[in-house]
Amino acid sequence: MKQLKREIIKFAKKLNITGLSALRSGNISVRYKKGFLITPSGVKYSSLEIKDIIFVGLDGKFSKNKNKPSSEWRFHQDIYINKKDANAIVHAHSTNATAISVHKKGIPAFHYMVALAGGNDIRCAKYATFGTRNLSKNILQALSGRKACLIANHGQIAFEDNLPKAFELAEEVENISLQYITSLKLGKPKILSIKEMRTVLSKAKNYKRG
Ligand SMILES: [Zn+2]
Repeated sequence: MKQLKREIIKFAKKLNITGLSALRSGNISVRYKKGFLITPSGVKYSSLEIKDIIFVGLDGKFSKNKNKPSSEWRFHQDIYINKKDANAIVHAHSTNATAISVHKKGIPAFHYMVALAGGNDIRCAKYATFGTRNLSKNILQALSGRKACLIANHGQIAFEDNLPKAFELAEEVENISLQYITSLKLGKPKILSIKEMRTVLSKAKNYKRG
């Protein structure tokens, strides 16, 4: 468990370093036994310690120590319950993904890399107040058949079967968001056909960076 907590801290600090999420915004979790380990509420990532990472059961129970789990722990809980292939989750308020999300728009197949999220678009979950069960519900809807989505007026979320991969997917979503915003400055981008995206999706299963 200590090793997993160390990994969470390493990637929480990376949220700051890479600019994916500043100060204490965003959160990270990893599935552990019948629950998950998650970053705490209100602690700056730069000062995180092992004891700050909190275990939350899939039943939503957590021990009452000094720190509370991230106020957004509910959507982590619901993703782990509903997505058996989710072993790690990265949620970020990254600038470009958030910029698109405030228009309540998803990202169409303007670039084949959109397929990294699992389909022919990256959806935007409907807005609900942070930390609520309603937001969880909206996120699960947007994640149907996907491993990442935007969250309206909020940010983005990505899951994978381990933390390095989940973090990389969140970075890819941010990069794709920047490219989409840039392409919109030149007019309406040409969207790839569903047929082409199907071909890409079958190749993407074997996608490896580099
Ligand atoms: Zn958030």
